Parts: sequence; structure tokens; C-alpha cells
Amino acid sequence: MAGKILIIGASGQIGTELCLKLREIHGNKNVIASDIKEGNEELMHSGPFEVANAMDGELIARLVEKHNVAEVYLMAAMLSGTAEKAPMKAWALNMDSLFNVLNLARDKKIEKVFWPSSIAVFGPSTPKEQTPQATVMEPTTVYGISKQTGERWCEYFHRIYGVDVRSIRYPGIISYRTLPGGGTTDYAVEIFHEAVRKGSYTSFLSENTSLPMMFMEDAIKATIDIMAAPAEKIKVRSSYNLSAMSFTPKILAEEIKKKMPDFSIDYKPDFRQKIADSWPSSIDDSQARKDWGWQHKFGLESLTKEMLKGVEAQFQKTSSANPG
Ligand code: NAD
Repeated sequence: MAGKILIIGASGQIGTELCLKLREIHGNKNVIASDIKEGNEELMHSGPFEVANAMDGELIARLVEKHNVAEVYLMAAMLSGTAEKAPMKAWALNMDSLFNVLNLARDKKIEKVFWPSSIAVFGPSTPKEQTPQATVMEPTTVYGISKQTGERWCEYFHRIYGVDVRSIRYPGIISYRTLPGGGTTDYAVEIFHEAVRKGSYTSFLSENTSLPMMFMEDAIKATIDIMAAPAEKIKVRSSYNLSAMSFTPKILAEEIKKKMPDFSIDYKPDFRQKIADSWPSSIDDSQARKDWGWQHKFGLESLTKEMLKGVEAQFQKTSSANPG
């Protein structure tokens, strides 16, 4: 690679693990983490970190120059649940940060951009099952509107200015290292923490709400794979559908019960139920599989096993550090 990698929003749920993986691949000093807040210990101690606001275009440009950055992964955003509470702030962050990075690529200050979209680009009028790559998109959340708009701008910057921007529509991402940041699929992370801590969980989505989900390791692999693919293989410059599995809170609870027979769940849907109801139940990602060879590894059973193992290890570590 001609220059270094900059991750903006590196302290978040996905940014943290992406940063650690890229440091493992390219060497710690070649991957610059940045965020408005500090990240976990591993992130802060494994390589360079810069405090930076993604909305400050001049500051981002200075960081790119200072560190000789060739690739930017823009992970900073306001997620679906939080964005509904602050629509204008969410719009400003999600759009300004993207323009700051796309403009750097247009001006040839950087070579390649990764920017994640989401299944939130779809809305109630989209076919719910096996949602196709190209279909009706009428999102009803501010988060979904910002992601759909972002997709159109990515495609535009590629077509008009030749910008090498690559994107994936992540489903709900499930992981245990860093807590999620206010999305509608967060229940599928919280449930594991509560199962281990209390043996029970109250879900903010109803029992039969089916949503597309993915284990973090697969999401990181997809991100690294799409960025490593030869440019001519990337036929979609808005964003690729990506899928691994779909399940409901009830199905996930049953899978957890196989390992923890005493686990119990109840349901108190909140405002996020409406958001979930507007999203697809399952995703057709055949184009990503065909164009750049996407393959997932984790299904419901392996995800549940890894999550329980990871969360239990974390719980034991914190309880032995704080006895009593
Ligand atoms: P997160 O909320 O966990 O992390 C976002 C990070 O951005 C945080 O560390 C936050 O401090 C940082 N940030 C916020 N405002 C900033 C600013 N002005 N300047 C710099 N940093 C700022 O989110 P995540 O789950 O890691 O998501 C990363 C990306 O993936 C986002 O674009 C999100 O929309 C997308 N995505 C995530 C999911 C999911 O399930 N986690 C699903 C679909 C799409």
C-alpha cells in the first residue's frame, strides 16, 4: 500500500475491531485510529490515535497529510435509535463526515474510501423477504434517509470524479468486545450480556421480529475483502447487500436456552419496534457473492456459542477485578 490507513470512528463497536484487525494485517503504526472519544485499552495502546471530529473537514485533511494516509474507513455515524431522537444532528454528522472524506478522494488526497451503509436504506414498501440488491427504497427513519442519500453520493463521486469508494449495507452486527452504539438490532447483543449477568432479558423488540444479522468476525472479513478486491470487480458503487442469517428474539432466546436452560425472556417493545418493522426480514446478497466472492462463516449456532464464550470470559474478568 502506498500510504497508511485512517479509521474515523475507530472507538465504536465496529471501528474498534476493524482497527485491531487492520493493525494485525498492516502493522500497528500503519493504521491510525481516530474518534471524538478515546477507545478501549487495546485500541489506545496498540497504535497511533488522534482525537478528531469527523465533521471538521480541515482537521481530517490535516490528519491525512500528517500521516500520509491513502485509505480512509469512515465508521463515525449516529445510528438508527439515537438518530430518531436528534434528527438534524444525525443528518449533519452522517452527511458532513461523508462529504469531507469523498472530497479528499475527489481531490486525490486519498486513494480509496470505505463507508458503510445499512439495511436501514430499505423501508416498508421494500419487499421484506430476500430483499434484492436493486429494489424500492423508501426509508422512514432519519438514519435510513442519511444512508440512502450517502449511497447516491458515493455512486455519484465514483461516476463523475472516478472516486474509488466501496460500501456494504451491514445488517445488525453482533459482538462482545465493544458495546453497540444505539441501533435497532442492539437487543441481539444486550441479550447475551443480560443472560450471563442475570439469567433473563427484556427485549425491546417483539418475539417474532425477524431481522438480518451478522457476527462481527464476518462483518470485518467482508469489509477487508471488499477493500482488497480489484477495482473492476466492484460493480456496485452505491452499496452492496450483505447477509449471513436472520432470526427473531424468540429464536435467539431458544438458542441461548440450549446452553443456559434457565434463561428466560420477556418482551416490552419500545419505539424501536416501528423501525424494525420497516426493515427487511432477510437479504439477497448474491451480487456481493458473485462480484467479489463474499462468503459468511457464522450462523446462529456458532454465533451463540462465540458470544456466550466471549461475554462469560469478560464477566469473569470484571467480577474477579471487583470482588464483592
Ligand atoms: P458506534 O456508534 O458504535 O460507533 C461510532 C463511533 O463514531 C463512536 O465511537 C463515536 O464516538 C464516533 N463518532 C461519533 N461522532 C463523531 C464525530 N463527530 N467525529 C468522530 N467520531 C465520531 O457505531 P458502529 O456500530 O461501530 O457503526 C459503524 C458504522 O457502521 C456506522 O456508519 C453505522 O451506521 C454502520 N452500521 C452499523 C451497524 C451495526 O449493527 N453496528 C449496522 C449497519 C450499519
